[in-house]
Amino acid sequence: MVQNSPQNPGQGKRSLVLITVDCLRADHCGLYGYARPTTPFLDSLAPESFVVPAAIVAGAPTYYSFPAILASRMPLALGRDVVGLAPGESTLATVLRESGYATAAFSAGNPYISPRFGYDHGFEVFRDFLDFETQSIENTVNLETPSADSARGKLNRSIKSFAGALGLGSLYNELYFQYCMKIAPAAESVDALRRFPAADILVDEAQSWLASVGQRPFFLWLHLMDPHSPYYPPNEAFRELAGRDIEPGRARYLNEYWNRSDMTSSGLSAKRDEVVQLYDAGIRWMDRQIARLVDSLKRTHLWDDCVFALTADHGEEFFEHGGRYHAPIRLSEEIVRVPLLIRVPGERGVKVPASPMSHLHLAPTLLEIVGVQAPSAFQGRSLWANLQRGVAWDDPAIIECVYGCTNPFRAESRNASRLIGVRDARFKLVMRIESGATEEVYDLEADPAETRPSSDGGALEIRKRLLQAAREHMERTVSTRDPVLRLRARLRDLRSEILGRIETLNH
Ligand SMILES: [Zn+2]
Repeated sequence: MVQNSPQNPGQGKRSLVLITVDCLRADHCGLYGYARPTTPFLDSLAPESFVVPAAIVAGAPTYYSFPAILASRMPLALGRDVVGLAPGESTLATVLRESGYATAAFSAGNPYISPRFGYDHGFEVFRDFLDFETQSIENTVNLETPSADSARGKLNRSIKSFAGALGLGSLYNELYFQYCMKIAPAAESVDALRRFPAADILVDEAQSWLASVGQRPFFLWLHLMDPHSPYYPPNEAFRELAGRDIEPGRARYLNEYWNRSDMTSSGLSAKRDEVVQLYDAGIRWMDRQIARLVDSLKRTHLWDDCVFALTADHGEEFFEHGGRYHAPIRLSEEIVRVPLLIRVPGERGVKVPASPMSHLHLAPTLLEIVGVQAPSAFQGRSLWANLQRGVAWDDPAIIECVYGCTNPFRAESRNASRLIGVRDARFKLVMRIESGATEEVYDLEADPAETRPSSDGGALEIRKRLLQAAREHMERTVSTRDPVLRLRARLRDLRSEILGRIETLNH
């Protein structure tokens, strides 16, 4: 499948495995102090790795996070109407491929990481599993989407508003939910309910690709969705954590319940611990499969020349601040702080300082580690020397996204107010930019749970410093925007929109 180039320009270079895990928050990993044994394999890798205590995403969710991970570029730097990577934009994959690497990506069915958004650039092999067949379609109960336009949905809406007028809204909702759960076909297994391919499927594919690479150095990117909702972990992983088997009907009930929009947060919170147990089991499965991948790299003697990095595109909320899942509404630590482990052969991991490491710096750092020059278009810089020597750095991590934008396809969604975070080693400023906007400053040392944003004069100097960093970031965004990349991306989007419309007309 992959041919060696005649000059073999990559010969002698180190390979790179990058694993990104959707929705994996740092504090649910053992190596970050989590009490439950979610990540025994990564924990065992930690002593010989650089474990970054404060790795911070450049944006959330997926579509505002990945431009920084792969292309060292802030998510809104090309304008809000550019979602994903621009055609011709330099990425880890394009740079490594030009340097003679064999390149492949296996992504577990996240539609935002697809060729539509430019993520296949630079990969000789790109598989996004968007054709993943789940047997679950008729097995799921979704109170909102499937019923919306059906006769049953319309009837339900009328009854619901009538019940609401009588003050019986929540009673009606509860009964309707219970009814939907009762009439759903029995769930035979969690495997049948799962929406995304589990990590073992991707690791299998990666292994067969690796067997075809030959002598070339390689870049392998895996994006795993095991901790992503709906939470349907393989039973084996659940059993290892919980000491009992998953009851598929219960797992479905919990997921459907957790997804309800008609419940107060206190009502939903009652199920929190059980839902977290499912989420954690997804992490455990991912960890186990990574162990299997590393094991095969060791058996084939590739591990000794292989740099290994693992991180996440954002975290996940479980009502720490009143929300669930990962909508860009808050920039609290459970959303923005992700694990980052980098294992470099021949290097003993040293203690990494608590300076926040933005994902913006990840690609340049990885390129320096494998000895490949980073392109000048990258906005981040390599922190390899700091990591190696354990020396702190000063620049704060900037986080930017669009407030509440859960559908970047819709202009009104992606044009909502900008949400900016500036996080240094101790403080974090969060600001929603709109008229009359105010900013909040959190002291993560005195208030790690982020429950008391400071607003008094005592924090004035800190506030000034963080605001200044936000301003410089905004100015840079405008002054360094690349008009050619932006136009290319707009043209691509327009083309796919037109093609989509033609297709609709043809049906
Ligand atoms: Zn994501």
